Amino acid sequence: MSTKPLFDRLALIGVGLIGSSIARAARTQGAVRTIVATARTSQTRERVAELGFADEVAETNAAAADGADLVIVSIPVGQSGSVAEEIGGHLKAGATVSDVGSVKGSVLRDMAPHIPAGVHFVPAHPVAGTEYSGPDAGFAELFVNRWCILTPPENADPEAVERLAAFWRALGANVETMSAAHHDLVLAVTSHLPHLIAYTIVGTADELSQVTRSEVLQFSAGGFRDFTRIAASDPTMWRDVFLANKEAVLEMLGRFNEDIAGLTRAIRRGEGDVLFEHFTRTRAIRKGIVAAGQDSPAPDFGRPHPGLPADDG
Ligand code: NAP
Repeated sequence: MSTKPLFDRLALIGVGLIGSSIARAARTQGAVRTIVATARTSQTRERVAELGFADEVAETNAAAADGADLVIVSIPVGQSGSVAEEIGGHLKAGATVSDVGSVKGSVLRDMAPHIPAGVHFVPAHPVAGTEYSGPDAGFAELFVNRWCILTPPENADPEAVERLAAFWRALGANVETMSAAHHDLVLAVTSHLPHLIAYTIVGTADELSQVTRSEVLQFSAGGFRDFTRIAASDPTMWRDVFLANKEAVLEMLGRFNEDIAGLTRAIRRGEGDVLFEHFTRTRAIRKGIVAAGQDSPAPDFGRPHPGLPADDG
């Protein structure tokens, strides 16, 4: 537990995978004194009350923001502007408003106009998640040893930025600061494009008439299985990500299409050395990710491997 709460009252607007993980981690670490949470539907608000990771459940976004010292908006990015408009008039002077959206340029553009003077606005993106959604999916350890990227506007108060950074560090994250535009470019290639590829390939395999659906499932260990996990990610969240980060995603998609054309040509021409060099380079990247502690070095992503059948003979 951290020695002293960093904020008195934390308001969580949206308590799905990310919001509910923040609540659980903040409570476990004693990073705040009180947690108030709210969600769009009464069904989710009732579930949050049942799960008990918040001290209070508010009926509206405005009521949650009232009197809070830190407000974290954890909703699909397409809703950011309208939620900021709802809470703008209810924020107390000196409070900090942040978010967790996977795109930062659009959040800055849509939320900033509604944040009154005297309230700090420091957008953030914890680069951590799973393919599950909703308040039951969250867990306190989600952010441990993961990056949280802060994208404060140029005029942000350094003390407010540091206090939010300390909050994320208390939840176990490593904190990095960069501009929203740079974040969106980096995440387009490390996260958004891979999700688009997964959504595409799973759809392609499903539509192939010569490979029956059961065969796709039966032989899915051959690489496809890992794409299906990514392609199971929340449709609303990812629709919003691609609409919000259109420019950067299209830029990266252009490069990707050029590279895949290069590999296509190498296969057609039988250029084994081109393929070998490429695959050697990518294997080194995987080793680098494991060395940086961002994934498990265990074979097959640490999945349990059944033993050989017992020898009865
Ligand atoms: P989620 O599990 O689907 O939860 C979304 C939450 O937002 C729900 O509680 C929902 O309430 C609430 N909500 C939606 N619209 C709202 C509104 N207008 N007012 C108040 N609450 C509203 O989503 P998530 O995975 O936590 O993602 C939330 C954000 O985190 C997204 O911006 C995403 O880009 C970002 N993010 C996600 C991941 C990931 O892997 N999932 C990782 C990093 C960042 P109802 O249940 O009542 O609809």
